Amino acid sequence: MCGVVGIIGNDEAANHAYLALHALQHRGQESAGIVSTNGYDFHEKRGMGLVHSVFPDKSALARLTGHAAIGHARYSTAGNSCESNIQPLLAKCQRGKIAIAHNGNLINAQFLREKLETRGSIFSTTTDTEVILHLIAGSRAESFSEALLEALGQIKGAFSLVILTADALYAVRDPQGFRPLVIGRFENSWTVASEACAFDLLGVPFLRKVEPGEVVKLSAEGLESIQFAEPNPQHCIFELVYFSRPDSEVFDRSVLLSREKLGRNLAREHPVTADVVVPIPDSGVAAATGYSLESGIPLRMGIIRNHYTGRTFIEPEQRIRDFGIRLKLNAVRSVLSGKRVVLIDDSIVRGTTSGKVVRMVKAAGATEVHMRITCPPTISPCYYGIDTPRAAELIAANQGVEAIRESIGADSLAYLSLQGLCQGAGQQKEEFCLSCFTGKHPLLHQIQKPG
Ligand code: AMP
Repeated sequence: MCGVVGIIGNDEAANHAYLALHALQHRGQESAGIVSTNGYDFHEKRGMGLVHSVFPDKSALARLTGHAAIGHARYSTAGNSCESNIQPLLAKCQRGKIAIAHNGNLINAQFLREKLETRGSIFSTTTDTEVILHLIAGSRAESFSEALLEALGQIKGAFSLVILTADALYAVRDPQGFRPLVIGRFENSWTVASEACAFDLLGVPFLRKVEPGEVVKLSAEGLESIQFAEPNPQHCIFELVYFSRPDSEVFDRSVLLSREKLGRNLAREHPVTADVVVPIPDSGVAAATGYSLESGIPLRMGIIRNHYTGRTFIEPEQRIRDFGIRLKLNAVRSVLSGKRVVLIDDSIVRGTTSGKVVRMVKAAGATEVHMRITCPPTISPCYYGIDTPRAAELIAANQGVEAIRESIGADSLAYLSLQGLCQGAGQQKEEFCLSCFTGKHPLLHQIQKPG
């Protein structure tokens, strides 16, 4: 996963990119970076860690002058998490300087990379994104736009891109529209971001989304749109279930209201007699609201999240059971004691979180714990940019619902059906990528094997 942002026509472009990256921090916490330009010179700053640690003070941003900038918050799904892979990537070729930031995952990157390497390309990162730069640089097309279209014709998979050249900002979305990408406009400046919650922070009105299969060129001449491929929507449903911020609109719908609907559908499909509905914060909160509204069972914040912990490397010498999760989440005994609890979370991946939370809730005195999940069992890894573990580590790929219930120690366990999920997310099943629940992966059949 990742968050991307691009701004053009604003003398504070880098400052705005920095603030937008804060709003998009949930999409990637490993590293961050910004590249800016004044139309001649390019400036760059990247680093490992959260946005505020890469840009700790004003001086870190002061050098990033210019009226245009792109930024990236990274959560690696292709290529290691290391300094050389931090985005935006910036390269110089015969077309001038090009900076690129990518959200998504190319599924034919390895094939293209091997092909490019046999022709002499020298790669300086292990990211799939660098392939796009080499394809643009190697194109014989006359204009940058044509070279970009040529490159886009060769890459497959998930790509929401922002690309910065000396005179324009390009926003690109793959034909499937796996990941979101939206455009905002304020006076003479344009902002592009993974999610519209970044616009709210900047006071930029939402204009529209970048359509699947569309390139939008933003420059002094205004907005120019090119449809480079037939749209074939396969929106990642996990954006609505878990990944996007609840205050964003993604795929034309409110993330928060979609999650509430998932919770309502879950209550209809899997009712239970209980005293309280308790979300696992923060991801389960909106769905738990929906479950509570539909079932009439009161919603209580029986688990509190500590938002300040981040990562810790120091643990007590005498091992405390479930220490890692206790650092993040704590049960409220006065809410849970003596209660039959419906516990709501968005997903079970490896099954470790739910097991620990169920134990915690029981230790706080709950008499019954009924686990309800707002999506079907996750049985397959994602090839389009969500960091899901390999099938061997996915509990539902290896065990049935009853075995999972037993392993997490819940009194009952139920998942939302695929139909309940799509209905709640408000679109036809065919318009979503559901591969993590079905194992049917879009586009994979099209990948050529390297010769
Ligand atoms: P697990 O312990 O592996 O079952 O993790 C499940 C928890 O991780 C749930 O509370 C989800 O909200 C959260 N989660 C689901 N998918 C991801 C992801 N790709 N990256 C980080 N956390 C996730």
